[in-house]
Amino acid sequence: MTDAHAHLDACDELAATLVERAQAAGVSRIVTIGTGIDSSRAALEIADVNEGVFAVMGIDPHQAASPEARRVQELRELLAHPKAVAVGETGLDTVRQFATPVEQRRLLDAHLALADELRLPVVIHNREADAETAAALEPFRGTVVLHCFSSPGLVSLAVERGYYVSLAGNATYPNAAPLREASASVPLDRILVETDSPYLSPQPVRGRPNEPANVVHTVRALAEARGVEVEELAAATHANAAAAFELP
Ligand SMILES: [Zn+2]
Repeated sequence: MTDAHAHLDACDELAATLVERAQAAGVSRIVTIGTGIDSSRAALEIADVNEGVFAVMGIDPHQAASPEARRVQELRELLAHPKAVAVGETGLDTVRQFATPVEQRRLLDAHLALADELRLPVVIHNREADAETAAALEPFRGTVVLHCFSSPGLVSLAVERGYYVSLAGNATYPNAAPLREASASVPLDRILVETDSPYLSPQPVRGRPNEPANVVHTVRALAEARGVEVEELAAATHANAAAAFELP
C-alpha cells in the first residue's frame, strides 16, 4: 500500500519509527508533504534517508497572507531533489480563513505555474471551496491530486478531468456514507488513499495521533463501499500512486 499524503515532519514520533511501523502493516511507500519552506526541507530530509518515502514541496494556503507566501521560488531548488515528486500542498480553504480568497488564489496560481513549468503533479487542498478550486485548476494541464477529498459534489468533474481523488481517514467516519458512496464512482485507476498524518485518524483509531500504518483502515472502508476485495483496492491505489507521482 501507499500512503499518498502524510506530514511526517509534523508527527511527534520519529519518522524512521513511523516508516518501520507502516512497513510492518504493508504500507511500503509514503508521500510526505511540506507545508512551508522549512517543512518542505524537513520532508525532503526525511525522504532522503528513508526508503520508500517521497516528498512534495509547497506552502499551504493558511500561509497565503504571511511573508512565507513570497518564497514560492525557493521551492524550485528543493524540487530538483530526486525524491521530490510534486508541488503542494496548495489550494483554497474557506473554513480556516487565515488569508483572504484573493491571497489564497494568488499563492495557488504561483504553485500551478511552477508545477506547469517543471512538469510536476500538483497536490491540492480544497476545503469547502469546490467551485473556486475547479475554476483555478481549469487551465492547468498537468497531473492533479485532490488531497483529503471531501466533496461528493465534485466527483463528476474530477472524473471528467482525470484528476486523482485521494481519500483520507474522514472517509471512514460513520457520517461519511455520502462521501464513500460518491467516491465509489471514481474509476479504479484514479483513486488514492492517504492518512494526512498526524491528523484525521480513521474511525478505529480516532482520537489518537494518525500515522501512515493506519491507511489500511481507509482502504478497508472504501473497498467495502465499492464492493471489491481489500487486496484489490490496496493494489490499485498503490499502482495509482506510482502513476500519479511517477514513483519508481
Ligand atoms: Zn496535508
